[in-house]
Amino acid sequence: MFEVVIGLEVHTQLNTKTKIFCSCATSFGENANTNVCPTCLALPGALPVLNEEAVKKALAFGKAVNATINKKSVFNRKNYFYPDLPKAYQISQFDIPIVEKGELFINVNGENKRIGITRAHLEEDAGKNIHENNLSKIDLNRAGTPLLEIVSEPELKSSDEAVAYLKKLHAIIRFLDISDANMQEGSFRCDANVSIRPKGDTKLYTRVEIKNLNSFRFIQKAIEYEIKRQSEAWEDGTYEKEVIQETRLFDTTNLITKSMRDKEEAAEYRYFPDPDLLPVLLKDEFLSIKIPELPDEKKERFIKDLSIKESDAEILVSSLEMSHFFENLISQNLNPKLCVNWLNTELMGLLKGELTIENSPVDAKKLGKLIQRIEDGTISAKAAKDVLAYVFENTSIEIDQAIKQLGLEQVSDDLAIEVVIEQILNANTDKVLEYKNGKDKLFGFFIGQVMKEGKGAFNPGKVNTILKAKLG
Ligand code: ADP
Ligand code: MG
Ligand code: ZN
Repeated sequence: MFEVVIGLEVHTQLNTKTKIFCSCATSFGENANTNVCPTCLALPGALPVLNEEAVKKALAFGKAVNATINKKSVFNRKNYFYPDLPKAYQISQFDIPIVEKGELFINVNGENKRIGITRAHLEEDAGKNIHENNLSKIDLNRAGTPLLEIVSEPELKSSDEAVAYLKKLHAIIRFLDISDANMQEGSFRCDANVSIRPKGDTKLYTRVEIKNLNSFRFIQKAIEYEIKRQSEAWEDGTYEKEVIQETRLFDTTNLITKSMRDKEEAAEYRYFPDPDLLPVLLKDEFLSIKIPELPDEKKERFIKDLSIKESDAEILVSSLEMSHFFENLISQNLNPKLCVNWLNTELMGLLKGELTIENSPVDAKKLGKLIQRIEDGTISAKAAKDVLAYVFENTSIEIDQAIKQLGLEQVSDDLAIEVVIEQILNANTDKVLEYKNGKDKLFGFFIGQVMKEGKGAFNPGKVNTILKAKLG
């Protein structure tokens, strides 16, 4: 009876070498207050100069989401005071952002859906407040790091759709290489706006904003908690009182959201054009920049050129690392279907917890070698699973070594196979006669007997060929 309405704001740090309005480095994890200068420290008289690379990265994003790119955009001052923002205003874009009216496609439970992107604008990040043992400290290394804030339309209808949108956005950003989008380090953070309304109603009800969510799991949990809180308040008749427009924080220990402060209205920020920065006017050569292949295009190519199933292709382009791994595999001239299976099913099946495709103990070269050994008949597919599990645990061991150590080499030696085939045929002369008289089904019986005698180590292809020849 309720419908959920979600709109997401994502802040992603652009991976430029230097900050957006000064030449300080953007590197993460440096000693506090070492990547600073008069401009990002907000010393009087210091002037901002726009970083061209940040503009190009915002543009690339705009192209990737089929957005309108504004040839002219404007930087504003957004006034508010927190200690981590020493100028007492943030330089951001307001009424004329660089990117507007884009779109992104998500796939949830096999259904494709278009989600509108309202805008994406450039702004500077604030520093960091650190609260430790009764002391509050400030690190301004992050102040002035370029951010792209990407705002979605309120068109997401569930926590699953919200997560699908964020994963897709994350992948696009990584494929474009405009941000490392590292969620732990805070270079891809999300504010989720959540409201509910009676099903069928089209007007927007009161939203709460849950700030600074930095893992897909927490985003999912925070939204689910908030939907529950709001619908319970509705049922209890306390909706008006309990659900107010405010900013909430997610408590990651108890998995609940808590009120942080009333939501500021745009008017409170007293936006006005920054007199220290001219409007940004894009040259035509900027507008024609090329962008790399994106997840959806790559997916279509995999499906069309390599005859890969859509569901598999979806997994292969789910992250940049995954698609690199796969492209690395097939570049070793291996059968694409085998590559898909050994990557998506077998290797992914082993990767758990801390281990992901990024730090997989088995890299594409090693997995490729394993697949090659299946293709050339050295090992059976069944034995290959044991080899994979073995090298997964013993990272210094190469595939061929592992096959030897585990004694899993298939017998491809014709003579050895022939001897066993002779034995089996001699022991079953009656069945050989029946076979020759037309009982074709017995071929399977002979294969079974030979493989059994070979204790599973015989190369099935070889057995097949030699047996056929012997039976005439
Ligand atoms: P602010 O900076 O005040 O948060 P923005 O316009 O940047 O405002 O972002 C508002 C976000 O909230 C957008 O993603 C929008 O889709 C979403 N939103 C607006 N109204 C609602 C609503 N009633 N329910 C859910 N999301 C909403
Ligand atoms: Mg907001
Ligand atoms: Zn600086």
